[in-house]
Amino acid sequence: MSQIVSEVLAANASYVSQFADKGKLALPPARRFAILTCMDARLDPAKYAGLSEGDAHVIRNAGGRATDDAVRSLVISHKLLGTLEWFVIHHSNCGMELFTDDVIADLLDDDLGTAKFDGNAWSNPHHNGGHAAGHFIKWHTIADQAASVVQDVRRIREHPLVPALIPIYGYIYNVTTGRLEEIKDATAAGRAKR
Ligand SMILES: [Zn+2]
Repeated sequence: MSQIVSEVLAANASYVSQFADKGKLALPPARRFAILTCMDARLDPAKYAGLSEGDAHVIRNAGGRATDDAVRSLVISHKLLGTLEWFVIHHSNCGMELFTDDVIADLLDDDLGTAKFDGNAWSNPHHNGGHAAGHFIKWHTIADQAASVVQDVRRIREHPLVPALIPIYGYIYNVTTGRLEEIKDATAAGRAKR
């Protein structure tokens, strides 16, 4: 077993020993809201937004982007599980700002191993052959964080399967302070229409 697997299972055993009555939690989120945010390892939505088990839906992907799959999850979150308010939370210093579709596609075309970033440009340490498939994926990279939050809130707001009564709030999590900073244009774009 890898060291990581051992560590995860040991942590889980400890969690189970203190699980108490969490097995009785209801399936729908008790506080009836959802957060779409980035997968960045420095972000812990349970901590930065004060969530306990059973409280809220947290949907994560690279960038916290409103991709088809994120929208799918949000629609389920409301339609079948009753959430009534949604947050889109991107963050400062996001890795999605450090490359473009062409950059990652070219890197993957050359080699599948982990690339290196020197603070300025990406390069492959090895050149063992990759695949052209990356040229056919939209990677949803980010050029401007505030603009991407507005864009994602608008994309969700204007989706035909999203009811007008759900307010969508736009924020950027500051990785140097831990603070959620509102993007007012995004929240305005996400305002509920009753
Ligand atoms: Zn990120």
